[in-house]
Amino acid sequence: MIFPPRIQLAQLPTPVETASRLTAHVNGPAIFVKRDDQTGLAFGGNKTRKLELLIAEAQQCGAGTVITAGAIQSNHCRQTAAAAAKFGFDCTLVLTGEQPEQPSGNLFLDQLLGANIVWTEGQSRDKILQATYDRLLDQGKEPYLIPYGGSSPTGAIAYALAMQEFINQNLHADWIVVASSSGGTQAGMVLGAKLFGFQGRILGISIDEPADILRERVAMLATASAIQLGVTASFSPEEIFVNADYLGQGYGKMGDLEREAIRIFARLEGLLLDPVYTGRAAGGMLDLVKKGFFARGSSVLFWHTGGSPALFAQPYQNNLS
Ligand SMILES: *Cc1c(COP(=O)(O)O)cnc(C)c1O
Repeated sequence: MIFPPRIQLAQLPTPVETASRLTAHVNGPAIFVKRDDQTGLAFGGNKTRKLELLIAEAQQCGAGTVITAGAIQSNHCRQTAAAAAKFGFDCTLVLTGEQPEQPSGNLFLDQLLGANIVWTEGQSRDKILQATYDRLLDQGKEPYLIPYGGSSPTGAIAYALAMQEFINQNLHADWIVVASSSGGTQAGMVLGAKLFGFQGRILGISIDEPADILRERVAMLATASAIQLGVTASFSPEEIFVNADYLGQGYGKMGDLEREAIRIFARLEGLLLDPVYTGRAAGGMLDLVKKGFFARGSSVLFWHTGGSPALFAQPYQNNLS
């Protein structure tokens, strides 16, 4: 295996907690939580691990600016802005929508971290991203483009390494449940499971994509990451576990499922989820427990991917209080 260069950003290994009160409450499988909300870097989350490889790649390319795109409450953008600040890069973020009157949550942090923000204002995100990239190139800013969610094959490799970390923690899990969106996290886990011998299954709760599209994306990314590592492992969509039953009203729309899960985790475990990703994934997991999806006596690891700063985004905060 040829590992790509990596800088140090994350506090690793992240701990695994036993969620005893939650386990008693659901009266089903034993539930554990892998605390990747505690990776560090401006409130932590799964993007810290990816950025250890992505920022290293930017350095290798001799970049001066990192540019990426996301939603207004993107955790990926917030963490990219923090990593850029720490390693002396300029950072440009292309965010969907328009500048709100009162920036809050992740957007407030993006600005605090010194990112330049470009709004799509109703135009296509990819078009504005390309135009912004071209402008930075013309200005001699030597931009390095990080794809949506940091989910390039390089970014995904970080989660193959995270699986190795979990395996080395010597804790049993029949299932890992994780929020899955741009797919890099799940792809890396699936690759790591194969490379380092994880016996359980990895279930991605889709945040915003139909199951077939997400399965295909995860399989393609996992295969591409394997190629980059120089190992022979290929993945087909049929071997990827995805559940897309919890898309609700769409991306970023918090409903009863998310609100309930956020409250249950907060009040039984003192754990803070987020309204967009982990609230939905945990809500899905709790519903699946209710439906008997996980066998009694089995153990389920909820891989907490972070995102709690979005709790302080005004619309979500109003909706939760
Ligand atoms: C980005 C993100 C995810 C999804 O990870 P992907 O690699 O894009 O699938 C899950 N949870 C949180 C909190 C995130 O910010």
